[in-house]
Amino acid sequence: ALSEDYQALSPETLGARLGGVEALASRIGPDASAWSVREVGDGNLNLVFIVEGPKGAAIVKQALPYVRLVGESWPLPLTRAFFEYHALTRQAARDPGRVPEIFHYDEAQALIVMEYLSPHIILRQQMMAGRRVAGLGRTLGEFCARTAFRGSDLSMQAPDKKADVALFSGNVELCDITENLVFTDPYFDAEMNRHTAPQLDGVVAELRRDEQLKIAAQHFKRAFTSRAETMCHGDLHTGSIMVTDDQARIIDPEFAFYGPMGFDAGMLIGNYLMACLAMPAHVADDAACTAYQDWLLDVVGETWATFAGEFSRLWHTERTGILYARTLYEDQGDHLASEAALREVLGEIFRDAMGFAGIEMHRRILGLAHIAEFDSIEDPDVRAPLEEKALRLGRTLVLSRAGFAGIDQVIATTRIAA
Ligand code: ADP
Ligand code: MG
Ligand code: MG
Ligand code: MG
Repeated sequence: ALSEDYQALSPETLGARLGGVEALASRIGPDASAWSVREVGDGNLNLVFIVEGPKGAAIVKQALPYVRLVGESWPLPLTRAFFEYHALTRQAARDPGRVPEIFHYDEAQALIVMEYLSPHIILRQQMMAGRRVAGLGRTLGEFCARTAFRGSDLSMQAPDKKADVALFSGNVELCDITENLVFTDPYFDAEMNRHTAPQLDGVVAELRRDEQLKIAAQHFKRAFTSRAETMCHGDLHTGSIMVTDDQARIIDPEFAFYGPMGFDAGMLIGNYLMACLAMPAHVADDAACTAYQDWLLDVVGETWATFAGEFSRLWHTERTGILYARTLYEDQGDHLASEAALREVLGEIFRDAMGFAGIEMHRRILGLAHIAEFDSIEDPDVRAPLEEKALRLGRTLVLSRAGFAGIDQVIATTRIAA
């Protein structure tokens, strides 16, 4: 059995320490000495173990009291496991079947025992290998729309919503990471930044001198800190999605917070667009590369179209909260006003999403946490021009967000940039 005091697990100690956890033993097999344990965490923050035995397998994810990538010099609270656990339960309710099933949660040990997704791999790896995922845009668009709508005042009862906002407002340190690393550091010479130098020095200086861009970045930081519209996943990049050739599941919501409805969709679209622009370095054959880029742009379009379609469906069928009450519209026979209100809300979410997408593209090239699509390109003279395309497209998304007629124009703009 577990002691009350937190202790980090290791492959050697996991069986002895978790052997008495019924939810685990019933899935793996009763004899913990017959379990095989591998640490597989490839993320920046936490320990992740695959535990296998005669009856099956499970994942054990445990927070560390510091940032794994950096070490003990950067402390980070264990409570992130608490927020991940609570986020997973809400996501499971709001979009059933999309996140791993939880088998056990131990707050003192900051650990979650959950479903082992297999043979799934991380979407970013799938994309770098030039492999498609059938239905990807539909699944992610639905996930973003359902979690956005069902976690908001459009759907929830006000006391429940306010209690949940209060709960997640405790996720201070993980929000602080986003507030600094995403919205601020890329736009000045912050200590932990890095970029491909000297090749990008010119464009980096240009962006940091760009008044309108820095105003917009702070506009979106203000939205992030103050617009508690819905529970966001908070870290929905392509490393937080696990896939097969025809399935997608969402993991790792420890950054969950109540924020703008377009945040998750925007971060995700920013990651799709970077994958698209980086692809020439990963697929040697020109025609194959173009075909794959076309598929990625189809995913962008499908993700947004599905988001808008599903959000609209929920608007028509599940608008049970205090916002845009039916008493103001349908109940008076005024369906057109309800449609106009929906269009306004979706338009605002779209513009926000494009802003968050562009900022995500900047921080992944200029900030601390880069992405493998660019980082794995060894030759800086090959890498820099692709990164520069992404920086410039990111700026266009942020500053021209209100000028796009829709996602098709964003896709056309990306095609020209690529
Ligand atoms: P971190 O918060 O440290 O980024 P993640 O939750 O992203 O941790 O997990 C790190 C890695 O562990 C993932 O990239 C994935 O390879 C693996 N992993 C995590 N959760 C699961 C799961 N439920 N099933 C299978 N593999 C998983
Ligand atoms: Mg992760
Ligand atoms: Mg990972
Ligand atoms: Mg994480």
